[in-house]
Amino acid sequence: MIIPPFRSEPALDFGEARNRSDFQSALGRVEGMLGRRYPLLIGGERVDTEDGLLSYNPAHPGQVVGSHASANRSHVDQAVAAGWAAFDAWSRTPVEERALLLLRAAAVIRQRRHELGALMVYEVGKPWDEADGEAAEAVDLMEWYARQALGLAGRDQMTPWPGEATQFRYIPLGVGCVISPWNFPLALTTGMTTAALVAGNCVVLKPAEPASTTASWLVDILHTVGVPAGALGLLTGRGEVVGEALVDHPQIRFVAFTGSKEVGIRIYERASKVHPGQRWLKRVQLEMGGKNAVVVDETADLDLAALDITRSAFGFQGQKCSAGSRAVVVSSVYDDLLPRVVELTKRIRMGDPIDPEVSLGPVIDGDAEEKILDYVQVGRAEGELLLGGERADGEGHFIQPTIFGEVAEEARIATEEIFGPVLAVVKARNFEDGIRIANRTEYGLTGSYFSRDPERIAYAKERLHVGNLYINRRSTGAQMGVHPFGGFNMSGTDTKAGGPDYLLFFLQGQSLAEKL
Ligand code: NAD
Repeated sequence: MIIPPFRSEPALDFGEARNRSDFQSALGRVEGMLGRRYPLLIGGERVDTEDGLLSYNPAHPGQVVGSHASANRSHVDQAVAAGWAAFDAWSRTPVEERALLLLRAAAVIRQRRHELGALMVYEVGKPWDEADGEAAEAVDLMEWYARQALGLAGRDQMTPWPGEATQFRYIPLGVGCVISPWNFPLALTTGMTTAALVAGNCVVLKPAEPASTTASWLVDILHTVGVPAGALGLLTGRGEVVGEALVDHPQIRFVAFTGSKEVGIRIYERASKVHPGQRWLKRVQLEMGGKNAVVVDETADLDLAALDITRSAFGFQGQKCSAGSRAVVVSSVYDDLLPRVVELTKRIRMGDPIDPEVSLGPVIDGDAEEKILDYVQVGRAEGELLLGGERADGEGHFIQPTIFGEVAEEARIATEEIFGPVLAVVKARNFEDGIRIANRTEYGLTGSYFSRDPERIAYAKERLHVGNLYINRRSTGAQMGVHPFGGFNMSGTDTKAGGPDYLLFFLQGQSLAEKL
């Protein structure tokens, strides 16, 4: 099969009237679809349950986005069994056919880009450009993994052996589960799920509760383009029930998880236990949190640094694993840089992200609101409050963008992931000290370094220990197929989504030799 080379999906310019009006009408159409009931999907059967869970609009907590069935342990047994029933046929389906299904799904998402973007505005409170960027990322991931799968299938670079016909090939693992977070409900769910599928595995998907509707739409798209019903099951429900039962299940071959460090560690421990009847060691990928630093030295372009600190800290309300929630600033430019960051942050328009002018929406739910405001209280004792620090007006879960200065490098707000619009600014003696401070948390996901000095930049490239290092640009905004994404240390297993090796997690190598 010949397909054009990979090309990133271009970003949409909402400055163009046409794009704005198209997105606006998609918001209207999607509003008419809110509140629907979504069942579980097990082996092609739509299964409803008596109890359920609601996903709602964090800007208007009274508005239900989707009403979802809630799976229990017996549904987990059924979905895993359905996966194994489908595995033989799916794993033997030629990789070209599986890759084609991803390309078709990418085409559907391209066509329905505005609708999917609009859904994420309602379901997780994404501002327009963030929501649209995520739809584009989902397209990129499928386009990338389709090509990677085709490339791997054609790769056999072993040394010939006299008198033998030899082969080295990759085969799928079996039935696994994908457990996804709510903050990139389309892209990350798409990435893990379709990478597993294109490699020939069957998947039981357990999406995050607050983003169950986006996941349900994605599964519907994948089934519509031809992914067999048994190869992809959907179990919405509670993490502690469904997620845990999937992780523990002896017939689950792999776990692909993206989410918090706490849950990731728990999964790591539980998945390592071999249960009666289990014939393998589960393969586990865990992509977890971050406490990413933006380091600025005295040679840096301070306007650029201020802009990118602000974007890194407050993009999508600071609810990105890659968020630059720490700024580490060399003391000689601290007093020059900080007022610029505060000024830019004051200009951020906050509100219901249904409004195109809004670039800071609500945080995801009441629990998140409480946790973030607790951290703000901690911050009042640990630093100097320069901006924000309060809940903001509105019925939704709105928190003012908040900046603390003069924060000690070991302070809780400088070392723990808050996952909200809170920036801690730490002073460094010099650039080496800044890089040392950046490295001092247990995480290692992303990081940025702002400097004009090539020698220092070279030093930072050697010493700043993060999975995604950016020089003179923000810590967020990885492009799939361009910036493979994943972190070191407690940020996870560094499987590098959107990278050249990602599919290997979902495959096992087999060596064949036949005597001639
Ligand atoms: P979370 O850990 O609370 O939930 C993630 C998923 O795990 C959800 O589907 C949830 O239902 C499920 N879950 C909860 N308890 C479980 C259990 N005991 N067993 C199995 N599954 C369980 O995370 P979240 O709030 O959805 O997402 C935010 C977190 O994700 C942040 O820490 C963020 O940094 C991280 N994240 C990391 C990346 C990355 O690529 N490294 C990307 C996005 C988000």
